[in-house]
Amino acid sequence: METFGCKVNQYDSEKLVTDLVNAGFVLTLSQYARIVIVNSCMVTEIAENKVKKQIAKLKRQHKFVVLTGCIANRNIETDADISIPEKSEIAKILSEKFTVISTEHTASASHRTRKFIKIQDGCNRFCSYCIIPYAREKIYSKPLDEIILEAKDAADKGFKEIVLIGINLATHVTPLAEIVEKCSDIYGIERIRLGSLEPDIFTDIERLAKLPKLCPHFHLSLQSGSDKILKLMNRRYTTAEYSELVEKIRKFFPDCGITTDIIVGFPQETDSDFKQTLEFAEKIKFSKIHVFPYSKRSGTKAAEMPQIDEYVKTVRADVLKNLDKKLKWEFYRTQIGKEYPVLFEFEKNPNAHTGHTPNFMRINVPNTDKISWQGKIMLTEVK
Ligand code: SF4
Repeated sequence: METFGCKVNQYDSEKLVTDLVNAGFVLTLSQYARIVIVNSCMVTEIAENKVKKQIAKLKRQHKFVVLTGCIANRNIETDADISIPEKSEIAKILSEKFTVISTEHTASASHRTRKFIKIQDGCNRFCSYCIIPYAREKIYSKPLDEIILEAKDAADKGFKEIVLIGINLATHVTPLAEIVEKCSDIYGIERIRLGSLEPDIFTDIERLAKLPKLCPHFHLSLQSGSDKILKLMNRRYTTAEYSELVEKIRKFFPDCGITTDIIVGFPQETDSDFKQTLEFAEKIKFSKIHVFPYSKRSGTKAAEMPQIDEYVKTVRADVLKNLDKKLKWEFYRTQIGKEYPVLFEFEKNPNAHTGHTPNFMRINVPNTDKISWQGKIMLTEVK
């Protein structure tokens, strides 16, 4: 299994592997695999090309390649042997085609401390730069009882934290606060985190603040700090509304981490628009900014707009990445001396225990005891 793109795809891949194993298939290392399933992403042109290149490479290695995910949904031509957009069909179709199947799953769930649960899929908001509504327009809300079952299953398997994810999470037909309340009742689940949120539809903050298991970490996609650009992007909020939301969240969750995504070099973004983005990011004091140079996706409205020079995009991305480092450090500094329950994770580095605080700061503690802390929650001072 090769997975590209967002957390929703990672989740889908895990589910797909479970379906294949349940259908009697065997997972194996890639050098022995006869078949490789590629769960694809086309959020940017770069992402799409990466998937196509990987498929071509797998074909040169004489693998049978099954394409699924966003590129399969859009029926785009690749070198894959078969394209199956509907993931729930894959195990059935492959059972009919092959007697024995070997796939590689790159990251086993048992190595994780945090379990992603996809509660929603699809988006029909058509932000002018985004290809997702064309690939995942069908809106789906997972029924509440299914979410609870998955969360209970995660608890039974020893996961202490669940992350509720979706393409557009807050469009779930059930209020997010109700979903978090129900998950909070599950014995064994100690932390619940929310995935990326659209600022204009994130409500219920007072109700969420009453739930101690909810992690005070909110990823609110900003995309630009210029109202002119937000309008061109067909985003449905202004910077003033965004600020107001952050202020309200901080009132109820004083030490929360606010993280975001920002696109630089969007069509018609002037130096002055970019400066507004920098100033706005400073004002909000993000604890992490994911920076994306604008990538033209044909078929979207923004692709028809006058484009910005690639060099300008690169320079702006570098400037914003530097600001991100500075803001991240400033946020950490405000947290020094505070104690947090840190959930320790899979230990890649034998010399350090690594985990995350509820507000999503990464914490490293020297591994002097040489005992694994993976899966443990320990009260730890931020130094
Ligand atoms: S909200 Fe906008 S950016 Fe997010 S998936 Fe939908 S169209 Fe794309």
